[in-house]
Amino acid sequence: MTHPAALVWFKRDLRIRDHAPLIEALQFERALGLVVIEPEWLASPECDPRHVGFLLDCIARLQRDLAERGLRLVVRCGSMLNVLQALRAKFAFTHLFSHEETGSGWSYSRDLAVADWCRAHAIDWKESPQTGVVRRLASRSGWAARWAQRMNSRPPNARPQTNRSAIDLPAGAVPTLRDLGFSALTLTLPAAGERAAWSTLESFLDDRGHGYRRAMSSPLTAVDGCSRLSAHLAFGTISMRSVHQSTETRIATTADRSLAYDLRGFASRLRWHCHFMQKLEDEPAIEWRNVARSVDGLRPGDGVHPQAIDRELFEAWCEGRTGFPMVDACMRQLRATGWLNFRMRAMLVSFAAYHLWLHWREPGLFLARQFLDFEPGIHWSQMQMQSGTTGINTLRIYSPAKQARDQDPNGQYIRAWIPEFGTKAYPSPVIDERTAIATAKEKLYALRKSRAAHTEAQAIQHKHGSRKSGLPPTPSRKRRRTAAPDKQGSLF
Ligand SMILES: Cc1cc2nc3c(=O)[nH]c(=O)nc-3n(C[C@H](O)[C@H](O)[C@H](O)COP(=O)(O)OP(=O)(O)OC[C@H]3O[C@@H](n4cnc5c(N)ncnc54)[C@H](O)[C@@H]3O)c2cc1C
Repeated sequence: MTHPAALVWFKRDLRIRDHAPLIEALQFERALGLVVIEPEWLASPECDPRHVGFLLDCIARLQRDLAERGLRLVVRCGSMLNVLQALRAKFAFTHLFSHEETGSGWSYSRDLAVADWCRAHAIDWKESPQTGVVRRLASRSGWAARWAQRMNSRPPNARPQTNRSAIDLPAGAVPTLRDLGFSALTLTLPAAGERAAWSTLESFLDDRGHGYRRAMSSPLTAVDGCSRLSAHLAFGTISMRSVHQSTETRIATTADRSLAYDLRGFASRLRWHCHFMQKLEDEPAIEWRNVARSVDGLRPGDGVHPQAIDRELFEAWCEGRTGFPMVDACMRQLRATGWLNFRMRAMLVSFAAYHLWLHWREPGLFLARQFLDFEPGIHWSQMQMQSGTTGINTLRIYSPAKQARDQDPNGQYIRAWIPEFGTKAYPSPVIDERTAIATAKEKLYALRKSRAAHTEAQAIQHKHGSRKSGLPPTPSRKRRRTAAPDKQGSLF
């Protein structure tokens, strides 16, 4: 008879605190942790060495933290099924515990294959939620209440088995970037791991969060003024519930009303995180296909339009040499540091979509590789929203010149990232802005006015739209509160 034994599979949840699968595995006398570096991930077009470097650092720290609690974390490189098969020959586990993942297409297919494998080998695989994303959601109505219920619930906690049997299986050293075939990184990554995540959260709640709502818009002030928790949330070195509960406690206990006001702005964004991820969970195809199918064929490079995207414009955008200083400075900051604030991310995408008329998929893959915090559900939803292909959101066309005036009035940011600015070495604009925007608006508004687009928008709103205030506005709510439809899409 096989003795019960548990394997806890760490994926995008590289932590100890608030970790239901770990708690479950620790109830078994025989238990092991597993983390797998998968070739499918390394080869995926969203993966960059910066992600791999950060992951390896997180794993090394987790391995140490788990060892202190008497659990071995086995590190393996290989395709998941091969790894499971080989591991099972040495450690006959009967239970597999992990968190649910709302990932890219490759990880979704991998999870389906793991489910089949577990069924074939009579292994009981239990997945636990770790964000507000709801699997097999029937309707968006009531979603925000479910989010709140999950986030306010008590984190899992149980006393682990103390007489754990020793398992004769080497943990395996954490590979280096070089072992995996990558060169050394040219950028400095933020500190990885669970301790760094908590100290980032604490420094934000105690100090850096003052003035958050003001600081978040300018790339000059956002670097310190935003929480900088996104990479930690993406790699799961801290849970969304921990961030939510710590924030609510701080809001409830601080006597500083302006801090509480800033932190409430932050708290609502935590819900956005899951709101956007839910869209990918409900419709995995939004990773590669327009949400609004009525937009298909509009831009080159969408798989329906006969032409491919304009490589020259695309490369100028990727390399930060479009001749639009605010765009180029942002792109250079992003490439050099792996992070950019929300407004500037949106401006980069708006510029690619409206000024350069590029379909979002290739720019989205490029940005996914640059963002250390790449989170597929947020990323693809935002790429589509900022490109005007969701059919329901207000068209937002950012003017790089206005953003420079508002967010960098003294030109300090531009000069810091474009040393050649103002010399002959800096390129002239790659497009004529006035003509490009007029053409983009004309095409998009003509499309949006059609009856088919209108009918489709209602169905999209029903499936993906938010039902609660505090989330980004949908056209109907936006109209009620502010502009008439013909004012939308203005340059700002
Ligand atoms: C085109 C585009 C792509 C994006 N891709 C990603 C991505 O891959 N991963 C990612 O985490 N964020 C993404 N964002 C959202 C946002 O820009 C980042 O979450 C934020 O800049 C991260 O920095 P922070 O943690 O300091 O944010 P803070 O302002 O401190 O916010 C705290 C947390 O709230 C959540 N959040 C904040 N703003 C948003 C938002 N607009 N939508 C959803 N969640 C939000 C994030 O989890 C963030 O970490 C994208 C935005 C755009 C416009």
